[in-house]
Amino acid sequence: MTNRLFDGLMEAGRRDPTKRFAVLPDGRNYTYGDVEAVSARFANVLIGLGVKPGDRVAAQVEKSIEALMLYLGTVRAGGVFLPLNTGYTTSEIAYFLDDARPAVFVCNPAARDGLAPLAEKAGARLETLGVWTSADRSAGSLFDAALAAPEKFESVARAGNDLAAILYTSGTTGRSKGAMLTHDNLLSNAAVLRDTWRFTADDVLLHALPIFHTHGLFVASNTVLIVGASTIFLPKFDAEQVFHYLPQATTMMGVPTFYTRLLADERLTREATAHMRLFVSGSAPLLAETHREFEARTGQRILERYGMTETSMSTSNPYEGERRAGTVGFPLPGVALRVVDVETGNELPQGEIGVIEVKGPNVFSGYWQMPEKTAAEFRDDGYFITGDLGLVDPDGYVTIVGRGKDLVISGGFNIYPKEVELALDELPGVVESAVIGVPHPDFGEGVVGVVVARGALREEELTAALKERLARFKQPKRIVFVDELPRNTMGKVQKNVLRERFADLLS
Ligand code: ATP
Ligand code: MG
Repeated sequence: MTNRLFDGLMEAGRRDPTKRFAVLPDGRNYTYGDVEAVSARFANVLIGLGVKPGDRVAAQVEKSIEALMLYLGTVRAGGVFLPLNTGYTTSEIAYFLDDARPAVFVCNPAARDGLAPLAEKAGARLETLGVWTSADRSAGSLFDAALAAPEKFESVARAGNDLAAILYTSGTTGRSKGAMLTHDNLLSNAAVLRDTWRFTADDVLLHALPIFHTHGLFVASNTVLIVGASTIFLPKFDAEQVFHYLPQATTMMGVPTFYTRLLADERLTREATAHMRLFVSGSAPLLAETHREFEARTGQRILERYGMTETSMSTSNPYEGERRAGTVGFPLPGVALRVVDVETGNELPQGEIGVIEVKGPNVFSGYWQMPEKTAAEFRDDGYFITGDLGLVDPDGYVTIVGRGKDLVISGGFNIYPKEVELALDELPGVVESAVIGVPHPDFGEGVVGVVVARGALREEELTAALKERLARFKQPKRIVFVDELPRNTMGKVQKNVLRERFADLLS
């Protein structure tokens, strides 16, 4: 009997338990033997707390190697790991606990008293997990219990279609939905990324992403585990630490804001990155300009890929071959991708913009406790409707032009915000932009450009410049200036926040 995901991920690491898994900023050296032992300790504790196969183990904890071991321990115990964004407030946590009904809820030691009533109401056993330091060796009740628990555990048998995790989507377009991910969803994606991005046991991945999201938890961590590679496991993105550890790394994965922050630092040079094998970007669109600037400064071409909480990774630029700026590359092996008409759902000819649909072993099994939503987002032939708009170019590269929910319909015309954003971004003085639709008395919706400018720019200058570049119906009715675009922790622009803020601009 096997535990599909854990045994699959540990196949390489088990061959050499002395091999290093993680370099930690506190100086500890974490081996694959430690991964085996500490995940076993957590699994033993969870079983002792009454976790049964299929039970959810929710965690809102700071990033730490122990938090990652809690994920693996949950999987080994047959449970379903459910990480929660550390930024969620008490009332948001109340919603998630009520929705997910976890058997165990793990929080930061400092948050315990405030969250205890919520855990009790949801019927969850409350435990704490903090960050271990050499000065303060007690890092919460779960940590202490794990220290006292045996370091051997026979993993609970789980098959490929059993659930391993429920991950809530980022909530960029509305209330977060719980995506149910199976052992096979996660294992198959890790194997595909390993092959596509040529990961080997010699790799050292610089890990500065949060681990409550698919990018840091699955894309980065599972890909390292499955080949028995190492990770430099940083608590968060901090330029000082990144430049300190970069010489030891061979690869890095980041959201676009990591790359713009690196570019803003003069320590980013060709020499500083010459030893790096691969930089990967995803979770939000990487501006073609960032891609070009990064290459000009370092000689490295960032590899952009595309995925979602629901699907893990679906497309990637090639490892060998052209990494094309502004595109997300090709469907990964095993993933079928098509573009369909927004209204009819019929497949579109190559080159036309429509809704992207995907099918493959990576695609989740449904939204937690939302059977109607699940049914509505899958086609009869098994394709999942991503809600993202895009096209496939003649060479097969996929380009994402935005989200269906951000499409602006003005006077009966469809306007893809990305096209207007690209036109705005090219104008001198424009740092970046977001284009939204807001209520308009005549046209239903009107286009509004929200711009971050370098120095003083006037609205009229930009509107005049766009007249030559865009058809009239695509031209913004108003352009407003902001100091920065609202972004969430994954670097995604929150267009809903902008739509609310400028709702009355055209009425
Ligand atoms: P919610 O579904 O709750 O509104 P979300 O879609 O932002 O939130 P995630 O699953 O974290 O939650 O993000 C997936 C989305 O991120 C994709 O659907 C896509 O819109 C965007 N995305 C991911 N990678 C890229 C990329 N390389 N380029 C453009 N967009 C990307
Ligand atoms: Mg989404």
